[in-house]
Amino acid sequence: ASESERYAAARPRSRALFERAARSLVGGVPMQWMSEWPGPFPPFMAEAEGARLTDIDGHRYIDFCLGDTGAMFGHSPPAVARVAAAQTAKGLTAMLPSENAVIVAELLAQRFALPFWQMALSATDANRFVLRLAREITGRPKILVFNGCYHGTVDETIVSLENGKPRSRRGNVGPAFDPTADTRVIEFNDLAALEAALADRKVACVLTEPALTNLTGVVLPDDGYHAALRAIARKTGTLLIIDETHTISTGPGGYSRAHGLEPDILVLGKPIAGGIPAAVFGMTDTIGGQVRERLYGPGAAVAGIGGTLTANALALAAMRATLTEVATEAAYDHMIRLGTRLAEGIRAVVRRHDLPWYVTQLGARVEYRFQPSPPRTGTEARAGADSAVDRFFHLWCLNRGVMVTPMHNMLLACPATSEADIDRHNEVFGEAVAALLGR
Ligand code: PLP
Repeated sequence: ASESERYAAARPRSRALFERAARSLVGGVPMQWMSEWPGPFPPFMAEAEGARLTDIDGHRYIDFCLGDTGAMFGHSPPAVARVAAAQTAKGLTAMLPSENAVIVAELLAQRFALPFWQMALSATDANRFVLRLAREITGRPKILVFNGCYHGTVDETIVSLENGKPRSRRGNVGPAFDPTADTRVIEFNDLAALEAALADRKVACVLTEPALTNLTGVVLPDDGYHAALRAIARKTGTLLIIDETHTISTGPGGYSRAHGLEPDILVLGKPIAGGIPAAVFGMTDTIGGQVRERLYGPGAAVAGIGGTLTANALALAAMRATLTEVATEAAYDHMIRLGTRLAEGIRAVVRRHDLPWYVTQLGARVEYRFQPSPPRTGTEARAGADSAVDRFFHLWCLNRGVMVTPMHNMLLACPATSEADIDRHNEVFGEAVAALLGR
């Protein structure tokens, strides 16, 4: 039987739920990306803890997808579970500030070296707010993003570069307005294009990940790229917004601290509250002052930042626990050491079979790609992706109790991942390669 038939035959309960879901959940899944799992239907989750996930057919997986980084610090980290239960008994939504809000902001300021913070419900939500604030502060209409970026379902950012022009991304649900009117899009690592795009001083901000992680094949910055980006943004009065939602895998202070980036605004989402919905954005002293003036100064004109459930007590308690007890230096040491073991194991398989494939590592996050060298741009990343081979690997792994991310070949080590887990992945990966090559 094919890997797909084998997958489907072993999951009758997931199949039945998927068929039932088609009658009430649009598309059979509650979120669009969940339809990306290989095979005829996704595995339906029963429960998860640490680095383990069990589906409703009773298959137990070592989870390297970890909620596409939403569970970067493991499923239901004990400290988060504990404070979440305690907070649930003590009130969830009050529309009042709390001590935890202050403590979380202080912890973030210390960790990320930016003095001022605000909260949001998701990275998408945070990115919408920071784009709005950047435009308000600079009085400029446009934003700049890189081809192949993903910053959540933010209309202006779901664009790609086609024939030198920005276009609403193919397959994107039609946005309510034309994102190309106010968005400029260029290739990552192209400094000449960056200079040209910012020269007329109409761009409020550059929004970017430190490395583009939402493509099959992480696009890493060239040597000196970030320093040049920082300098050009400064020269043209353009704000630099760094979205660390995925690259927080790099270390306790994200890629920005590890590599000395100097964002004006920093965005963090997904794992920041240990899996409970929350996001935050940090600002420099200058930006913090300007935002304060716009939001709370005399004649403040800006509405539309934050929402009723922003900074709710559950999210804040979870964030505080994540920052103090979960995403610790020691946890990162473990995750990064295992990330290295993962990358080395995959490289060993690649060498053994003499394949022209490479592996990237961003701390706890590892990705392999069936290409000889890393892409330098979004266009190169898209051109080299081979989704048929990717899907074969994903299914092969799922069928053997190893869960990898369906949208990329991304693997993540969390504090609960063990060396044996890593070695099991690398063994299964080796078997998949041998099967693919007919060896
Ligand atoms: N920013 C980055 C870099 C992301 O990778 C993602 C999601 O993958 C988002 C923002 C959006 O996060 P969310 O879907 O939690 O809003």
